[in-house]
Amino acid sequence: MVAPRWLFWHRRDLRLADNLGLHAMAAVTPALTGVAVLDPADLQAATMAPSRRWFQGESLRELQQRWRQAGSRLLLLEGDPEVLLPALALALGARGVAWNRDVEPLVRQRDRRLAEALQRQGLQVAADWDQLLVPPEQLLTGAAAPYRVYGPYWRAWERQPKADPVPAPTDLHDLPDGWELALGALPLVAAPPREPWNAGDEPLALPGEAAALDQLQAFAAGPLRRYDDCRNLPAEPGTSGLSAALRIGTLGPRTAWAASSEALADCRSEEEERSVTVWRQELAWREFYQQALFHFPELADGPYRPLWRHFPWENDPDRLEAWQQARTGVPIVDAALRQLIETGWMHNRCRMVVASYLVKDLIIDWRCGEAFFMAHEIDGDQAANNGGWQWSASSGMDPRPLRIFNPATQAARFDPDGVYIRRWLPELRHVATADLLSGAIAPLERPGYPAPIVDHRQQQARFKAMYATLSRAADGSS
Ligand SMILES: Cc1cc2nc3c(=O)[nH]c(=O)nc-3n(C[C@H](O)[C@H](O)[C@H](O)COP(=O)(O)OP(=O)(O)OC[C@H]3O[C@@H](n4cnc5c(N)ncnc54)[C@H](O)[C@@H]3O)c2cc1C
Repeated sequence: MVAPRWLFWHRRDLRLADNLGLHAMAAVTPALTGVAVLDPADLQAATMAPSRRWFQGESLRELQQRWRQAGSRLLLLEGDPEVLLPALALALGARGVAWNRDVEPLVRQRDRRLAEALQRQGLQVAADWDQLLVPPEQLLTGAAAPYRVYGPYWRAWERQPKADPVPAPTDLHDLPDGWELALGALPLVAAPPREPWNAGDEPLALPGEAAALDQLQAFAAGPLRRYDDCRNLPAEPGTSGLSAALRIGTLGPRTAWAASSEALADCRSEEEERSVTVWRQELAWREFYQQALFHFPELADGPYRPLWRHFPWENDPDRLEAWQQARTGVPIVDAALRQLIETGWMHNRCRMVVASYLVKDLIIDWRCGEAFFMAHEIDGDQAANNGGWQWSASSGMDPRPLRIFNPATQAARFDPDGVYIRRWLPELRHVATADLLSGAIAPLERPGYPAPIVDHRQQQARFKAMYATLSRAADGSS
């Protein structure tokens, strides 16, 4: 008997190993064909960072090879998945289409429409969770409500059982000869287009499943054990750099978790154990923001706390442009923005600093920063980015009402020798460290580099006054 053919649609899971949906389908039938859809609506949007496009394209290229090694193939199509997948399934006589679920509101709506279209055609659909260690519906508070605060979420999340990684499928059955003819006019692409992104000599993250695994192993063998001490120092290679791999899905979360369990089992000190736990807390932040977006899709459209809907943002276009061009005159802010623009990645500590600066020093709506990050981040992820921006703006699920970072204090604490600032602003290499950190650089010391566009103390006072007025108005009307 001929095994029924299924299609497996890769989205943010560009790997064969530790892929729950693919593993489950391979247990149903070896007649599996992979498919990925290059959707111009996604790829050309301003939200698709060139670095992410490159990472995704190269990862797909590797995935095509892996499908061949597993005995079948990954078909690449270009167009709208809602149109193409039903047509492809029909053309290949497939019994159904399987994929892993996502939390993003627009993706979920699209998936619902697509599932209905496939079912109307008499095809089956299989969609379950893969990208999270703990699926969003599985973890609710005692009152059966979603978590809104990270602390209790982490404590409950940590206690949840976590699945082991599953192996990559092998011995799959390829399409029968002549399959190309069956596709007719469907827009098949032989390989992903080469994206013109210069990742530099030592890219932080390399595309593909094999590179992600190597990077995880190297991190687990060394920096993970010192993570707690080094994770906040942007000049140090103290974090995993795995965010793009986790975002594009060249690394599965169970594999990351298993590496942390192995590391925990052979820690040599309490410090090492603490470091592994702190790293696990970051994996939990990733899941916290994803479950938040899943349960509160309105986060994608604006502030979580209603007060912020009425904040009188100044949105000065010149100031926004200065921030976007890394020309604010505040060295730690400009260094961090240059790192993002040049590499597609920015250290987490610096993401918090530049976000706070945009919102609370420049008094610009955080959504401008959110969009700019999405257009530049190699790891651009709606849930993490929106969560990070709302946290920094104080408009999100953070219980602290107003959090303001002083860039000079942050620089002095986390880049005390100015190594990070000098790396990204070489034109200021000669400036004395104290001046680099404070930002008080004499005009002759900074030819071509701007003076600070605003004064932090003044802006902070101004922002607090605006916030107080808004809070009083909100209290008065409630
Ligand atoms: C304003 C702002 C925007 C952000 N935008 C994104 C984004 O678009 N995509 C993204 O993946 N992360 C985002 N982050 C979170 C964080 O900065 C990055 O995940 C982290 O810097 C990635 O580096 P790493 O892989 O070395 O992390 P590690 O320190 O090694 O952490 C391991 C993994 O945990 C996850 N993680 C770590 N910190 C966070 C966090 N605060 N929130 C959610 N997940 C986290 C990431 O998947 C990361 O790879 C943002 C943070 C802020 C403040």
